[in-house]
Amino acid sequence: MCLLLTRTKSILRMRFICWLLLVPVFAIGQRQEFFHPQMGTLFQIIVPTADSNFARQATNLAFARIDSLNQIFSDYQENSEISRLSKTAGTDAWVKVSPDMWRLLRIAQKISRQSNGAFDITIGALTKVWRKAFRQSQFPTNAEIAKAKHTVDYRSLRMNGLSHKVKLLLPDTRLDAGGIAKGYAVDAAMKVLRKAGIRSALVAGGGDVRVSNPPPDKAAWIIATKGADATGQIVDLEKNLNNRAISTSGDTYRFLEWEGIRYSHIIDPRSGMGIQHRQFTRVSGPRSTLADALATAANVLPIAERDKLAKKFPKYLIEVY
Ligand code: AMP
Ligand code: MG
Repeated sequence: MCLLLTRTKSILRMRFICWLLLVPVFAIGQRQEFFHPQMGTLFQIIVPTADSNFARQATNLAFARIDSLNQIFSDYQENSEISRLSKTAGTDAWVKVSPDMWRLLRIAQKISRQSNGAFDITIGALTKVWRKAFRQSQFPTNAEIAKAKHTVDYRSLRMNGLSHKVKLLLPDTRLDAGGIAKGYAVDAAMKVLRKAGIRSALVAGGGDVRVSNPPPDKAAWIIATKGADATGQIVDLEKNLNNRAISTSGDTYRFLEWEGIRYSHIIDPRSGMGIQHRQFTRVSGPRSTLADALATAANVLPIAERDKLAKKFPKYLIEVY
C-alpha cells in the first residue's frame, strides 16, 4: 500500500515509508529523539541520554548544519550553490566551489568512474524530464529524453584540484545531488554531534542511517529493515550496527506506471530511462555519503557489473532484494 504514495503526500506519511525501510527498533530507557524535515524527507536523531537540554542543543546544531547543506545541494532552489553552478554549464567558466560542494563532487565523481557512469551527478536534465512525467502521469517523449541525455556525462564535469574550481563543459547540464546529498548530510550531522561530545547517536535521513557507538548498556543499535529470504520473499529483518552507515535505494514512492510498466525515479544515464526492475538496494559501510551513492549506482547496474563495483569498495556490503 505504501508503495503507491506520491511525493506530495504529507511528511508524516513519508516518515512512515522511511521507517518501513530502516527503523531503530528498541526502546532505550533514557533517550532523546528529534525530527527535522529537510531535503524532501524527515531527518531523525536519537541520543541515548537523560540530559534532554544538552541533547536538544547539540541536535539543533546538527539540524542547522543539514539546513545549510540544503542551501548548497538543493536543485529545487534557484539560488542554491548547485543551481548557480548548473547555470554556468557550457559557458567555459571555472567556478570556485564551497568546501562541501568540492567534497561531495569528489565522491560523486569517484563513484561515477567506478560504476562506469551508472551513478552520474550530471543527470539533472533527465531527472527534470522524469519529475515532470511523474507529476503529470504522462510518459516523456523520445525527443525530451534524447535532448536531456545529451547533457548528461560525468566526464564533462571538470575539477581543478589546486583552485577547487569546477567547470561544466556541456551546455544545459544540470547537476542533481539527490542520489548522494542525504548521505552527505547524515555524515555531516554525525560529525556535529561528535564535536559536541556525543559518542553514541543515530542519525537518519530517509533511507540513509548512520549510528556511532552503541547506547550505554547495549551491545548495538538494532535497525529494522527488509530483505529477501531463501525463497525470494521480502521479509522483516533486524540488523545490529555500531559505528556504521546503512543506505537503502529503491522505487519506494516515486515512480511512473505507464502501459503496465513501472519506471523508477532512479534513472539509467545510459538509456535515459527510469529503471524498470523493481528492487531495493541496501549498502552498509563506514560512511553514509558513499553508502548513499553506491546504493543508487548499484540499483542501476546489472548483477555482473554490480559485483565488479562491490569488489572496488571492500569496506561496503551491497545487498539487493
Ligand atoms: P536515492 O534515493 O539515493 O537512490 O537517490 C535517487 C535520486 O538520485 C533521484 O531522485 C534523482 O534525484 C537522483 N538520481 C536518479 N538517477 C541517478 C543516477 N543514475 N545517478 C545519480 N543520481 C541519480
Ligand atoms: Mg542514493
